[in-house]
Amino acid sequence: MLTQSLVSDIIHQQRDFFKTGKTKDVAFRIAQLKTLKQAIVEHQPAIIQALRADLNKPEFETYTTEVGVIKEIDYAIKHIKSWTKPKKAAISVEQLPGFARIYPEPLGVVLIVGPWNYPFQLMISPLVGAIAAGNCAMLKPSELASHTSSVLAEIIQKHFDPAYIAVVEGGVEISKQLLAEKFDHIFFTGGTAVGKIVMEAAAKHLTPVTLELGGKSPCIVDADANIENTARRIAWGKFINAGQTCIAPDYLLVNQTIKQDLLDSIKKCIQEFYGDEPAASPDYGRIINQKQFARLAKFLQDGEIIMGGETNSDENYIAPTVIDSVSLEAPVMQEEIFGPILPVISYNDIQEAIAIVNEKPKPLALYLFTRNKNLQQRVLQETSSGGVCINDTVMQVGVSSLPFGGVGDSGIGSYHGKASFDTFSHYKSVLNKSLWLDPKFRYAPYQGKLQLIKRLIG
Ligand code: NAD
Repeated sequence: MLTQSLVSDIIHQQRDFFKTGKTKDVAFRIAQLKTLKQAIVEHQPAIIQALRADLNKPEFETYTTEVGVIKEIDYAIKHIKSWTKPKKAAISVEQLPGFARIYPEPLGVVLIVGPWNYPFQLMISPLVGAIAAGNCAMLKPSELASHTSSVLAEIIQKHFDPAYIAVVEGGVEISKQLLAEKFDHIFFTGGTAVGKIVMEAAAKHLTPVTLELGGKSPCIVDADANIENTARRIAWGKFINAGQTCIAPDYLLVNQTIKQDLLDSIKKCIQEFYGDEPAASPDYGRIINQKQFARLAKFLQDGEIIMGGETNSDENYIAPTVIDSVSLEAPVMQEEIFGPILPVISYNDIQEAIAIVNEKPKPLALYLFTRNKNLQQRVLQETSSGGVCINDTVMQVGVSSLPFGGVGDSGIGSYHGKASFDTFSHYKSVLNKSLWLDPKFRYAPYQGKLQLIKRLIG
């Protein structure tokens, strides 16, 4: 059992390592990123096996959504030299002679705490930013995806000195022990309720936080959408990883005129993806544990099941399910679903859909299916969400040049690509003045100088 003093020891070792200045060397950072990539490639079979055990994740999905994080490593390696270069800043005439630069510098020792739904990728992706920005890192993966947690620990232990990068495995107690320590940044991915606990603990040390949280991401489909492609993209985004995706379309807001066609098409897609019996499909996941299974199973009573609805508690299986006739007050519409259940709500006018979205806390993602450019602009203008994807679902997360994060209840801060580097960096502003010219007008005595200053400032 890890004790508080052992946790403190690792942090001290990391502080000492950070002080050596090694992590500030860009060549060192690139070498570590390459080591990380190589380690992931080498341990791919173990990663695939662990995710199969934790979530029955199909190899294809593990490859694309977990191991695929190596794309972020490649992106960081490609851009790190330009990211780390000091940037020139303009100065005003009264600062002359002199020049200004902005220097990115690492923060120090950072803590990364992750969830169970994409348990590998959601630890490695922030780690890439931490390494690229020159930090030491402590990782606390989710105890609920225990197989992935131990594979991650094994990989990191084998390839990195714990004084530089360490994994601390465990649950809530370990997490609390870590949060009691002083870090230079905490990067947390998880639920909104725990996000608040993390922020409160961080406040005691004035530690900055990035909170990657969840929420109810709406999916609006307007009358002119291409039904077949829309249905396929919604079914994919909703049922991948059995709906346990932070940016899965949470609920459907569909224009009444196309509702039936869209639902028929979604049904066809589910059959195409997983066959008549999704329980037997090698491509369909399972709910992480009994607790989540029981929470989700209750939602099945919140409307009329128009497809799916079958469950098997021995296997934590819930079929891809669509429920209609759902009241906005039903429990399924009060919290993030985070499972394979899609409630459907129809609207006559887009204003109704926008109003429903705006009544709820700001979501992590918003999806809009329409070809109408004016409508696209209107929804962008009149709603707020962490991100938006128009005419697709979930794909926005894969664009390294787009910062990924929430707003309001769905999170604070962002990452991916350059945003990850920024998250784990401090931008130090430096004004560098020349000593050779020293006009006296800013120094006392001020008599007779105010008029001149007023004329200069305007
Ligand atoms: P969670 O908040 O329960 O747990 C996340 C981490 O916090 C785990 O490592 C856990 O051990 C730790 N933890 C739990 N309770 C704690 C406590 N009281 N004190 C300190 N640490 C504690 O989240 P989860 O159930 O693992 O993940 C699901 C949530 O994560 C969903 O809300 C989902 O939307 C969100 N999520 C967000 C993103 C994103 O990128 N924004 C990605 C994936 C998941």
